[in-house]
Amino acid sequence: MEDLNTLNDLFESELQDVYNAEQQVMQAMPKMIDAASDTKLRDKLQRHMMETEKQIRRLDDIFDMLDMEPEAEVCEGMAGIIRDGEKVIQAKGDPMVKDAALIAGAQKVEHYEITSYGTLRSLAQTLGMDDIALKLERTLKEEFKTDELLTGVAERGVNKKAPRE
Ligand code: FE
Ligand code: FE
Repeated sequence: MEDLNTLNDLFESELQDVYNAEQQVMQAMPKMIDAASDTKLRDKLQRHMMETEKQIRRLDDIFDMLDMEPEAEVCEGMAGIIRDGEKVIQAKGDPMVKDAALIAGAQKVEHYEITSYGTLRSLAQTLGMDDIALKLERTLKEEFKTDELLTGVAERGVNKKAPRE
């Protein structure tokens, strides 16, 4: 990590982090979709994968606006969440219980993103980068919405169909 002398340094560091995190999510999503059984869950994940592609393009725009290049530093936070998700994908068991576990993992991804984009949005506002703050806010809302939709699939679908004991 670069030195953190200014809020702008922190902004750039968090931007690099979330860019790498989104790339990891994009790579992991097809495996999650394949592992999901419930059609609503598959549909929500599929839609969010397309949204994630757009979010990465939005980040590319922000890098261009700031004349920055993405770096290769791995976001270890997201790497850990995804590794845990891969254990769920590999697990044997009831398909609906596995779906519930996939939702839990997917929501950990969304919460990580909500934290990152929330921080970035606030820093962009403080630093007077109004256009960039708006782009980050848009993605932040998509991550919140996805989290909510996943809660809905769990509470209204998967959790009802899963064996309790
Ligand atoms: Fe995202
Ligand atoms: Fe997301």
